[in-house]
Amino acid sequence: MNFLTHLECSRCGEHFSADELHTVCPHDGKPLLARYDLDLVAGVLRKSDLAGRAPTLWRYRELLPVRDEANLVTLQEGFTPLLHTQRLGAFLGMNRLWVKDESRLPTGSFKARGMCMAVSRARELGAKILAVPSAGNAGGALAAYAAAAGMQCYIFMPADVPRSNQVECEIVGADVFLVRGFINDCGALVREGTPIMNWFDVSTLKEPYRAEGKKTMGLELAEQFGWELPEVVLYPTGGGTGLVGMGKAFDELERMGWIGPKRPRMFAVQAEGCAPIVRAFKEKTEFARPWNDPRTVAAGIRVPVALGDFIMLDLLRRTGGGAVTVSDDELLRGVRWLAQCEGLFACPEGGATVAALKKLLDNGTVGRDERVVLFNTGAGTKYLEAFPAKLKVAARGFWRRRQREEPTSQ
Ligand SMILES: *Cc1c(COP(=O)(O)O)cnc(C)c1O
Repeated sequence: MNFLTHLECSRCGEHFSADELHTVCPHDGKPLLARYDLDLVAGVLRKSDLAGRAPTLWRYRELLPVRDEANLVTLQEGFTPLLHTQRLGAFLGMNRLWVKDESRLPTGSFKARGMCMAVSRARELGAKILAVPSAGNAGGALAAYAAAAGMQCYIFMPADVPRSNQVECEIVGADVFLVRGFINDCGALVREGTPIMNWFDVSTLKEPYRAEGKKTMGLELAEQFGWELPEVVLYPTGGGTGLVGMGKAFDELERMGWIGPKRPRMFAVQAEGCAPIVRAFKEKTEFARPWNDPRTVAAGIRVPVALGDFIMLDLLRRTGGGAVTVSDDELLRGVRWLAQCEGLFACPEGGATVAALKKLLDNGTVGRDERVVLFNTGAGTKYLEAFPAKLKVAARGFWRRRQREEPTSQ
């Protein structure tokens, strides 16, 4: 049984069929969102039904858009652990701190959530060739799911994305192009190529189903907290699918009567060198101006323009949350704090949430007794260039030389 009813424009509200391929709204160019018959879902699904289901994001299949299981493309993704990070909490002077660890998803980032959904639906609706501009991890995830689906895909990424992203795309057989420019330059190349090459463009929020995959982060958070959402969520924000998806998850759960109207205060975390959403939040505007010359080692949040900017900004304001920047030095230090307290090697984007939390605790925006969740959106091992390790060297004769230089006292 599937409960998807239609697509709806996030801005003008116009409806579109959910059984044909769509990108953005043809009237205003804004994202389309998937809608379900939630009353029907609430009638057939109980919270207790979930307990017996496999620990993947497909446990929420009634709230997901894939109509026929035969079209499902999966690497068994989702239901990532919610780690109660007590040592990191103690270090920051609090004790109710959790990290939702998305680094364990296929291809090492939470982009897998969105891409399993986009590729499944693209296959279901008859798309043949997929294309995406990527700051790194979206390309890696699309490439993997396209390979698993037996579909061809094209990926355009800035030439300075982490090497792991370039290699992971190439190895699974994607057509990868490096672009001298930013993610929006890559986006322009995909846009121009689409009519010529007959691609389906799966850019962030340009197709409706990646956000449905990201929505499962919100569903998991609710289930893992026993349907009592935490007070604060910090999320490293690029294109914003995760914020849009989580906001949608909470709204749908409320419509089903599974949670009340209370929401976590949602905070967007961005890098000082690329912070269009933080700037727009401070300037109290509805949309965000494009950021010139975006710079940060946190490649996943090096996104100067976001199609869903107004949806994110509305969510941050509606929940009483906010928007914070951290410098690259701070976010890399955040990675080390988390790693050394918890044994978890996070991506720089994940480290950014740790550094941002410290700021919010220090200035009193977040209370030390509140339940706080940080999102670690990917694996640190994908960003080796960002972490120059200064290691000591040992070779044969090492102990003899060391004894000569620093003789032990006994
Ligand atoms: C893409 C990405 C982000 C930003 O996610 P959005 O939901 O698009 O804002 C954050 N961290 C990592 C590791 C990413 O790959």
